[in-house]
Amino acid sequence: MEAEITSEQIAAAGSGLMPCQVGVWCDNCGVTAEHDYLVREDSTPTERFEAARRHLRANEGWSCGPDGDFCPTCQGKVTVDDMIRECHGRFGETEHAPGLISAKRAALRLKLIADEVAELAVAVEVGDLVAIADALGDIEYALRGTAFAYGIPLDEVTDEIHKSNMTKDFTNAADEDAKLVKGPGYEPPHLAPILDAALRRFEDGDGLDEQ
Ligand SMILES: [Zn+2]
Repeated sequence: MEAEITSEQIAAAGSGLMPCQVGVWCDNCGVTAEHDYLVREDSTPTERFEAARRHLRANEGWSCGPDGDFCPTCQGKVTVDDMIRECHGRFGETEHAPGLISAKRAALRLKLIADEVAELAVAVEVGDLVAIADALGDIEYALRGTAFAYGIPLDEVTDEIHKSNMTKDFTNAADEDAKLVKGPGYEPPHLAPILDAALRRFEDGDGLDEQ
């Protein structure tokens, strides 16, 4: 059985073939590739699904194998945010819309980050590289968990801040103590639109569960 997304073939009536919509879901990030495939009329759902997987593998950069189906964007790579989702999921907490959190929870999140930063300071002080790595990893985890609590899409925020940083003045950047300065071409990061967009995505049902 062949699976192709060619409308001419779909139009070829009487061939014993028919167009059929098949969706393949990325087992890592949940993205779905849905296309019309030309399938044999007597094909089983499994055969149709396999045809779709073959097509995605051959033409769209998907990795479809015994371990699952993975889209070309995430390629099955687990990000820190995936880990955070998994970790918070253990407590039954799902993603939520961007918004402020309770004072109690905010204080806890702050303390988590501050504790890890204090551990980093100790590790730097004693010159223990393993402990420095440990503390940095813990800071990242605490930081991402805090962004999760606030419903802040941190990757998008970081992208925007990077763009802004690249508009700073790099003239003295080689100097170790030099902080990049906001020269005449400086463009500040525009974060409010990112949060607005995240909120809209959430309201449109991309978010998993309202809390
Ligand atoms: Zn994916």
